[in-house]
Amino acid sequence: MRAMAEIRNIVILTGAGVSAESGIDTFRDAGGLWEQHRVEDVATPEAFERDPDLVLRFYDQRREAVQTKVPNDAHLALGRLDAGWNGKLLLVTQNIDDLHERGGARRVLHMHGEHLNAWCTSCDVRSRWTGTLIERPACPACGDHALRPDVVWFGEMPYRMDEIYSALREADLFVSIGTSGAVYPAAGFVQSARDLGARTLELNLEPSQGTALFDKARHGRATQLVPEWVEQMLG
Ligand SMILES: [Zn+2]
Repeated sequence: MRAMAEIRNIVILTGAGVSAESGIDTFRDAGGLWEQHRVEDVATPEAFERDPDLVLRFYDQRREAVQTKVPNDAHLALGRLDAGWNGKLLLVTQNIDDLHERGGARRVLHMHGEHLNAWCTSCDVRSRWTGTLIERPACPACGDHALRPDVVWFGEMPYRMDEIYSALREADLFVSIGTSGAVYPAAGFVQSARDLGARTLELNLEPSQGTALFDKARHGRATQLVPEWVEQMLG
């Protein structure tokens, strides 16, 4: 294990717990329901095939709501860390909101996609999208009416896994923030990081399912724990 002073390269994984304090609801924290919908009704490719209007309306509402939310002290602290950290840093997020970016972070990787993108299934181009998709607007790139939310649904492969594992291989420190440790492949990152020699830290509201795998764990609100940790790192 590497000493604290030797830490140059950091990989941070964030999950729902970071956005929860900004008022963003997630289904995994609510007993399988997301805004009163079952996951299998709104967050799978089969659901989209079966009832595209339901799925598009659901994401249209979430996309609209997310634009009314603001970054909290955890997002802002991670933005300061990104700006002030001279070594390598990768902020891998399972969150599909843009609160890390609005909190000042630049080195962000959205492994589960982004609310504010639309993905054209005809030409494969992703476009920034802040409006609705229910009316089947034309793709800005090819003109086809084949846009879907650019969000990784259950049963689909998370994005940019090669980049994530490449960053984990170089990491001296892996920090998991606000994530339950229940959803793979993200839940496996701590084991990979350990195997590759990184120190590991969990910051979460409560012990996650994988908490025993971390060298250190601190439990409490992200808006409390994350600014404290960032001050230590930049101190
Ligand atoms: Zn297109």
